[in-house]
Amino acid sequence: VLLDACAPPGSEQIIPLLIPEERFVPGVEEFHAATCFECPGGCGLLARKIDGRLVKVEGNPAHPISKGGSCARGQALPQAMYHPDRLQSPLVREGERGKGRWTEISWDDALERLVTELIPLRTESSGLAFLTGQLRGHRWELVRRFLAAFGGAHHWLHEPFGDDLVRRASELTLGIEAFPTHDVEHANYVLTFGAALVEASRSPVRFGRGFGHLRRGRPGQRGKLVAIGPHLSVTAAHADEWLPARPGTDASLVLGIAHTLIRDELYDKAFVDERTEGFEAFRERVLEAFAPETVSVATGVPAEQIERIAREMAEYGPAIAIAGDAAVTGPNGLATAVAVTHLNALVGAFGREGGIHFDPAPPFAPYPVLDEPFVLREPT
Ligand code: SF4
Repeated sequence: VLLDACAPPGSEQIIPLLIPEERFVPGVEEFHAATCFECPGGCGLLARKIDGRLVKVEGNPAHPISKGGSCARGQALPQAMYHPDRLQSPLVREGERGKGRWTEISWDDALERLVTELIPLRTESSGLAFLTGQLRGHRWELVRRFLAAFGGAHHWLHEPFGDDLVRRASELTLGIEAFPTHDVEHANYVLTFGAALVEASRSPVRFGRGFGHLRRGRPGQRGKLVAIGPHLSVTAAHADEWLPARPGTDASLVLGIAHTLIRDELYDKAFVDERTEGFEAFRERVLEAFAPETVSVATGVPAEQIERIAREMAEYGPAIAIAGDAAVTGPNGLATAVAVTHLNALVGAFGREGGIHFDPAPPFAPYPVLDEPFVLREPT
């Protein structure tokens, strides 16, 4: 070992080249840009293939949401692809329901059976329920076209982390039917109502990176995270402060904070005057019905704590409030999402750094216009 440096150049490489390391896989390597659909986050991924076979996915550094990151679910995508229980062809049940006997059939056979079953349903106004998870972009356009062509079908959307009520709240209060983008990275004070920013939520990778920056990304400046929700979630455990409000009372708590901001004239007057309408009616109602003492009885959060949070929001801005997950999918979900939008307006959070933005829809290429109406025909 001592005399290794005296060896001829390159001789130390002989053994590693004869017995390559495990990570060296011979074959043609390709990378494809892809999108993860394991949760509503929609992270951009790079899929690595060797000889046409997927071997790994990583976050796409050029993607605006993931910026090179991905979470454990995204990393597990190849396992889902090669899982022995993954269905690889349509199945048809044999025998009685519940017996678990299935036979593989071809796609042509499956489509023919499906169309034969669907056609009689077109005569009934509620004959078909179309169940999907959350859809966006081209997949949603495809389903939308199918439903329009079929006529009378009900679209049922099932997404445990669905953001429909937040979108609806944006539409009701701002006239924008979209999910807000929260600039957590540049905020100083973040109040989360149920949004499990660290462990789940709408985009764990995006929020995880934002949270890291909020806490440690700015030398000498550490943002504060306050988590509100009935249980000690991972986000609440990582927060600087946790307010265990009773389930379904988030909207009251938001308005209790709004009450203090208005009563003590701590709200962003310039923003409210220039950018909002109907403030006087809102002010009157909030001052009348949502005093911290009243809100405290409903929520279980002490009035002094509600008032202090309001003062901190005003003092340590830019501040943002985020509604998500359990707070907007349980009782009073829409009221909570609307109240949080109002609170964000009171602290002037919209359209500024460390605040809230609405990103334009991606410029998807449109589907080609059909020459003739898209109709279901009897199989021949
Ligand atoms: S957060 Fe994880 S599961 Fe969700 S889209 Fe991104 S990589 Fe996929």
